[in-house]
Amino acid sequence: MKNTNHYDFVVIGGGPAGQGAAEVAAIYGYKTVVVESNVLGGVVATTGGAPTKTLRDAALYFTGFRDREVYGLAGQMDPALIGKHLRSRTIDVCSQMQESVRLTFEKRGIDVIYGRARLGPNRTVIVVEHQHGGQERKFSADRILLATGSRPFHPPNISFEDPDIYDSEKLFKIPRLPQSAIVVGGGAIGCEYASIFKALGVSVTLVDSGDRLLSMMDGEISRLAATVYEGMGIHLLIGKRVKCIKRIQDTLEVALDSGEVLRSKAVLFAVGRSVNTDGLGLNEAGVNTNERGEIVVDRDFQTSAEGIYAAGDVISPSLSSVSMEQGRVAACHAFNLEFKEAIDMLPVWAVYSIPEVAGVGLTEEAAKAQGIDFEVGRSNFATLPRGIISGQLQGMLKLIFRRDNHHLLGAHALGDIASELIGLGQATIHLGGEIDIFNRLTFATPTYTMAYKFAAFDGLRRLAAEGRFSGLANQDNSFHKPKKKVK
Ligand SMILES: Cc1cc2nc3c(=O)[nH]c(=O)nc-3n(C[C@H](O)[C@H](O)[C@H](O)COP(=O)(O)OP(=O)(O)OC[C@H]3O[C@@H](n4cnc5c(N)ncnc54)[C@H](O)[C@@H]3O)c2cc1C
Repeated sequence: MKNTNHYDFVVIGGGPAGQGAAEVAAIYGYKTVVVESNVLGGVVATTGGAPTKTLRDAALYFTGFRDREVYGLAGQMDPALIGKHLRSRTIDVCSQMQESVRLTFEKRGIDVIYGRARLGPNRTVIVVEHQHGGQERKFSADRILLATGSRPFHPPNISFEDPDIYDSEKLFKIPRLPQSAIVVGGGAIGCEYASIFKALGVSVTLVDSGDRLLSMMDGEISRLAATVYEGMGIHLLIGKRVKCIKRIQDTLEVALDSGEVLRSKAVLFAVGRSVNTDGLGLNEAGVNTNERGEIVVDRDFQTSAEGIYAAGDVISPSLSSVSMEQGRVAACHAFNLEFKEAIDMLPVWAVYSIPEVAGVGLTEEAAKAQGIDFEVGRSNFATLPRGIISGQLQGMLKLIFRRDNHHLLGAHALGDIASELIGLGQATIHLGGEIDIFNRLTFATPTYTMAYKFAAFDGLRRLAAEGRFSGLANQDNSFHKPKKKVK
């Protein structure tokens, strides 16, 4: 063991959670070090958000998938060439993301040590460095953050040794696009890959054991997504579970619990995440985990060991946006900073499939379960100038609002830029806004944002039909019946 160094804050893991925490602490002048065993940026900058979204963008660009039917010009490119470009673009974007985190850390004066860290006694961290022949270095800290993230879950009955059975990490090593693929798991990652593969000309079957795809989304939107995916030619098998996989020469035989047997050249599993806590020394340091192995934290993101905090996927796999916020809030509690006290309880959930799906706030199912007296307003993109121009006719924005005071409770969308569109709904919910505001605002046209106005019209019209709404005071475009007949 070499020298002992002291830091105010030692952050283990340089992904979004570690990044958010380290930056906040450093901005407030705390001497901070991040220990990272791979590259800065975490899953986002290696095999997660950035590369998958790059693949999606590149797939749309190279194949002309999106505009194919509008212009009648299907993009035709040699698949080998597409594969080469996809790979190099993805690697380029990941490198830029990693470098951007490195530069931010440098600007904020945050030290970075590359190596594998574990907790030692009395709030110390032991790092086996990648450099210097793998020697161990010991750091003491006032506060420690565990932000070691997660990795793909591997069902025990499946051999990932098979070269054609992939998880979301191994997929980035795929040598060429397969002719056919079975995607197992109808969550965000599964739906994203299924639609990207399909756009690239792969024959795709999507298998999910639940009763619908994208279970975190509003039911109507998730059913619409399923219809759109099927319309693209993705074969959906819902409510079915993969029992086992057998290799027959160059083909994989996938047996389902329903008795069906599917054949495919490749299988991708996207069936959840396992947390990275192995070898972290949690027991010795008195850090408790739950039955799923996730680190247990209190409202301040402090673990059962005083001064040791945890944030991000390691406390429950979710989103990069959520992880980063958790890291920031954890740092605030660790050092008593007023910057941020709690995380946003209504984050946007976005799925970057083709098309995008996004939602915020209450789904219709949740509003019903909570016994709320609510109404729904919908706007179909096929009636929006922007939707018609772009040829994206299958999109929809759905608003869920209280009948008594018209407060927006949830906004859910499927279609082009749904992930961007939903931001307006998010802000309105947070500000306690009524859907009437969308009636008042003059949105730019053509935009998808206009969908808010038409969804509000639709919702208010339903109330008006029941005599529960008689218009908006001082508004030209209210639902007042004219007092005098217009001649
Ligand atoms: C395919 C895919 C697509 C996704 N798309 C999106 C998306 O579009 N939007 C979104 O918001 N989220 C998305 N996510 C989720 C998002 O990637 C995660 O929620 C986020 O990365 C979690 O951040 P984190 O910092 O907790 O962990 P990670 O990103 O996993 O980072 C943890 C870091 O800790 C390091 N580490 C682990 N153990 C040690 C150790 N002992 N010592 C030192 N370092 C260690 C790891 O190398 C890693 O860099 C996606 C995930 C996947 C897999």
